[in-house]
Amino acid sequence: MTLRLYDSATRSVRPLEPLHPGKVGIYLCGATVQGAPHVGHMRASIAFDVLVRWLRRCGYEVTFIRNVTDIDDKILAKSAEAGVAWWAWAYRFEQEFTAAYDALGVLRPTYEPRATGHVTEMVELMERLLAAGHAYRGEEGNVYFDVSSLPDYGSLTRQALENMTVAEDDAEPDKRDPHDFAVWKAPKPGEPETASWPTPFGRGRPGWHLECSAMARRYLGDTFDIHGGGIDLRFPHHENEQAQSHAAGYGFARHWVHNAWVTTGGEKMSKSLGNSLVVANALERTSAPVLRFALGTVHYRSTVEFSDVTIAEATGSWERFAGFVTRAVERVGEVPAAEIAAKGPAELPAAFVEAMDDDLNISAALAVVHEHLRAGNTALAEQDDVATRDAQLQVRAMLDVLGLDPLAEPWRTAAAGGAESAEREALDALVTAVLTERVAARKNKDWQRADALRDQLAEAGVVVEDGPDGARWQLKGTN
Ligand SMILES: [Zn+2]
Repeated sequence: MTLRLYDSATRSVRPLEPLHPGKVGIYLCGATVQGAPHVGHMRASIAFDVLVRWLRRCGYEVTFIRNVTDIDDKILAKSAEAGVAWWAWAYRFEQEFTAAYDALGVLRPTYEPRATGHVTEMVELMERLLAAGHAYRGEEGNVYFDVSSLPDYGSLTRQALENMTVAEDDAEPDKRDPHDFAVWKAPKPGEPETASWPTPFGRGRPGWHLECSAMARRYLGDTFDIHGGGIDLRFPHHENEQAQSHAAGYGFARHWVHNAWVTTGGEKMSKSLGNSLVVANALERTSAPVLRFALGTVHYRSTVEFSDVTIAEATGSWERFAGFVTRAVERVGEVPAAEIAAKGPAELPAAFVEAMDDDLNISAALAVVHEHLRAGNTALAEQDDVATRDAQLQVRAMLDVLGLDPLAEPWRTAAAGGAESAEREALDALVTAVLTERVAARKNKDWQRADALRDQLAEAGVVVEDGPDGARWQLKGTN
């Protein structure tokens, strides 16, 4: 059996037929680095991380390109407001994204091109489009794509031109048709000189869609296997990317894969929901593997409802898996990572392979992992070491496909830290006892005693913070 994936262009599940046997090229629209990453961003990266992991386990050589959009209107506006150079602003958040991907065990892409590093490729593409009559020049520095020149336009999202919402830059007076979109944009008044590049069409900066067309071709060729992104990118972004590349005579993506988004209270996550969903903040409340479990074990085309219930369920599942692996290792030793990695699809449970090949049916796949977990727990109870080792191997190999092998980096420390978390619990109990005594001392207005208790904790490296909900503590130098 081979991998069948839903193709958003044909709206059907169809076999992935790589252009070059044994190799798969994937382009994923990465972050526009204008602000801190939130859990919605991580959902897309985890969904494609699972796809990449599965393809690699099936023996494909995967070239995975995920771009960084490091120049755009919002980056310029926000950096100007903050009084920071736009490139420093973009790089700061690019690093935050990298940290978030790493924290959640998302494998690094084969390459991560930045838009600003590919102006040459963009100019080449524009020249081709202008020569073929698919693009035209507006005022100095502006180039637009002429959507009426391409009969194919609208084919990705199956929309007729008259029903389409007009492009976001429809206010531009030099456009011939409101549906036309910007390929290259002249600098706006007040924008820094460094935010534009000289081209044969005047100084300007890339339109968002152009950069992906140019970078996908640069690293994956005229035609490549899979283009991915969040479902909200289908229109206009992906429709316009495809239009540019098709108009330039390139085959572009053969398979379009889109992930659904994350909802909170049934609504699409947005900035208005505040900072609680920023990855760094979410990781203060939830451990990284649990967060990954919550975001990564729902089918990629279904929305993830992000709530306390979701996290509680993910916590339960993760603890069951990690707990079994810890006990199995204690009993029969750790199966080496090389052996886990070597488990090809022929040696994995057939039902798991079938589920993954069926458009990455993660819930069916997870059901198989649970079956093997139960068998493993039975084997442990019966002190059957051969079966325990086999269950450890199978469970970890399958979880590794989902990026959730408890003994793989970056979870290793957390899982192997059974002892560490026991120490933490003991410490918490002791500190809580001291804090309870301090509360009592304050109630009795025995300030001297209360301060002495606090000082004792400080001496031991425990920092106490008083808040409206009582005192919280942490070890000095951690957060
Ligand atoms: Zn893109």
